[in-house]
Amino acid sequence: MPATLIDGKAVAASLRAKLAMRVAAHVAAGKRAPGLAVMLVGEDPASQVYVASKAKQTTEIGMVSIEHKLPVETSQADLLARIAKLNADPSVDGILVQLPLPPHIDADAIIEAIDPAKDVDGFHPVNVGRLATGGKAFVPCTPRGSMRLIRTVRADLSGLHAVVVGRSNIVGKPMAQLLLAANCTVTIAHSRTTDLPGICRQADILVAAVGRPLMLNAAHVKPGAIVIDVGINRVPAGEKTKLVGDVDFEAVRGIAGAITPVPGGVGPMTIACLLENTLDSYELKLG
Ligand code: NDP
Repeated sequence: MPATLIDGKAVAASLRAKLAMRVAAHVAAGKRAPGLAVMLVGEDPASQVYVASKAKQTTEIGMVSIEHKLPVETSQADLLARIAKLNADPSVDGILVQLPLPPHIDADAIIEAIDPAKDVDGFHPVNVGRLATGGKAFVPCTPRGSMRLIRTVRADLSGLHAVVVGRSNIVGKPMAQLLLAANCTVTIAHSRTTDLPGICRQADILVAAVGRPLMLNAAHVKPGAIVIDVGINRVPAGEKTKLVGDVDFEAVRGIAGAITPVPGGVGPMTIACLLENTLDSYELKLG
């Protein structure tokens, strides 16, 4: 039987509709709209597309989008000064600095300058620490979205074996923390892992966050597993290019129990969860 297709586009649209209703209720009660500030340094084309998409979706659900588009030569001191202003601005609930930053800027120093209470990307060490210790934290958007997708096909994850392939700070590690918090037994695999197919085949939930096109195939998937493909890879397709995941979707869809496609799986969830984090931040401030 072919796997259930987990439609991230539809789940994200439904989440955004719910967020829009929450925002509308606050505004109808006479409160200000939540505000999300996004800072982009330089002209990386992928980042520009992503930031434009964030701004569009932010305003579509009734929130205020504050954009700082800065030239590539912007100094670290200038960026830090702007972050300090946004930290102090009561109309700003979320601050996001688009990564990657130009090489002359220390990304860690920038992330650490963001007020943890406005760190809607969940990258500040305070939020990373709170997530690891089970406290109330902003959770990085892609893992948060991936968990939502898993829950659409299985509510109780307790006792399941989850294998996360990839150990980055923005996807792999926080994803593993969330699965652990959901009472999964978690294995994190990476580039030094031996017998990757054998480890992946033990997974009831397999999360691929590697950045290698179609790397995981039929040899990596246990029958019935939930497969979450975080990877976004652009590959040649004739004279054009197309997006593919880290999972060979066609090879795996007859084995997995449920699977996310690329595009249209995890990708759309990331911005929706960013908006959710921003609204959560706003509501926390309201008490
Ligand atoms: P990173 O490059 O930061 O991390 C990749 C991870 O994959 C590393 O931990 C690396 O291991 C591991 N890895 C690399 N090669 C292998 C291998 N042969 N076998 C096993 N593990 C391997 O990537 P990100 O976490 O930032 O992103 C991963 C993918 O997810 C990318 O395709 C990215 O585009 C996509 N992405 C998608 C998002 C979305 O919105 N859907 C958001 C963010 C990312 P090691 O640590 O040992 O080097």
